[in-house]
Amino acid sequence: MSTTLSQRPQLKHLTAILDNLKQRGTHFKLRILEDEQGPVCTYDGKKVINLASNNYLGLCNHPLLREAALEATKTYGVGSGAVRTIAGTMKIHMDLEEKIARFKNVEACVVFQSGFTANAGTVSSILGKEDFIISDELNHASIIDGARLSRAKIKVFRHKDVAHAEEQLKEVANEPGRKLIITDGVFSMDGDIGPVDKLCDLADKYGAIMMVDDAHASGVLGRNGRGSIDHFGCHGRVDIQVGTLSKAIGALGGYVCGSRDLIDYLYHRARPFLFSTSHPPSVAATCIAAFDLLENEPERIDRLWSNTRYFKEQLGRIGFDIGGVTTPASETPITPIIIGDGKKTMDFSKALFDAGVMATGIAFPTVPEGKARIRTIMTSEHTKDQLDQALDTLEKTAKKLGILS
Ligand code: PMP
Repeated sequence: MSTTLSQRPQLKHLTAILDNLKQRGTHFKLRILEDEQGPVCTYDGKKVINLASNNYLGLCNHPLLREAALEATKTYGVGSGAVRTIAGTMKIHMDLEEKIARFKNVEACVVFQSGFTANAGTVSSILGKEDFIISDELNHASIIDGARLSRAKIKVFRHKDVAHAEEQLKEVANEPGRKLIITDGVFSMDGDIGPVDKLCDLADKYGAIMMVDDAHASGVLGRNGRGSIDHFGCHGRVDIQVGTLSKAIGALGGYVCGSRDLIDYLYHRARPFLFSTSHPPSVAATCIAAFDLLENEPERIDRLWSNTRYFKEQLGRIGFDIGGVTTPASETPITPIIIGDGKKTMDFSKALFDAGVMATGIAFPTVPEGKARIRTIMTSEHTKDQLDQALDTLEKTAKKLGILS
């Protein structure tokens, strides 16, 4: 069947684009994980040290979380059966939302199916075409898509450049539309931290709505992983906080925290909430157990940061470009190794894999042209031996490919 579909001319333009990617050396094949996420795991039949996952705290496979998922499945079954507004709101969804709201120190919270839909569904529903979005140029794709769907006018400021954000705001200050300032708390490709406190000052000065996407900051920054708002002491100044349940929390989903009215409004207007089925109860139960762990086992976060410091120091010592000159300097467990050329980066990633290290190559259009990189991510679960082995492989492979002299 599929052979006949390939012969049809209708989608030939897609094949041409894929051929172009192949020529540029940036076409990829999905690597298949054959066991579970961990500091060492098996992809495509090969055991590798994993420097690629967002499993920051090792919660993807924590025994208490597994147990919570199994118990919820036994008690409530495997599916919620409907969208939230029809018949798919289970008590366990409400329990999770209350738990997150308390953790984040806000009035209310709503959970979405993913961080992507949390961002896109929120931005697209709270603004209209008369409004303005003041957005960091490196904000996540889900924010950009939400902004486009909202039909608001998008004003992009240079990465973390608060003065430029203010210029953008000033240009539209006298327009009647609402203004939304939006930044990632931690930027996913460079690992640097957004200037949340200074952008809050701007929001206060110009009466703008303040929104932060804390996908990579939750579970990582702030007290017990409360995120960038806690890290900067900005509680009560960020109208909309988005987080994900898919990274440090170890499961799947996204959430929005804010005032009771914001959450009630999203119940009525956010399209992924209205038109897409809610999480299975096992996911909600897993996340509840994960937030308990953040409160009860803060040493995981300490281990994450001590691994992060060690790995960055060693990458610098070896002589890798880990940002700070042509790209932002990482301040978090995400550390890019900047290579520049897309094909060279993909070749490096492949050679690393063959040598036993899984570290993703990231090229245009995910990052700007000429800024291709290997992205490394630390977790609390990597041992020092594993890190030393990975560093040795990175150094030897880079020398072999002429990336390091
Ligand atoms: N925001 C940022 C900054 C992200 O990096 C991601 C995930 N790549 C998301 C949002 C989306 O989160 P999720 O994977 O839960 O959809």
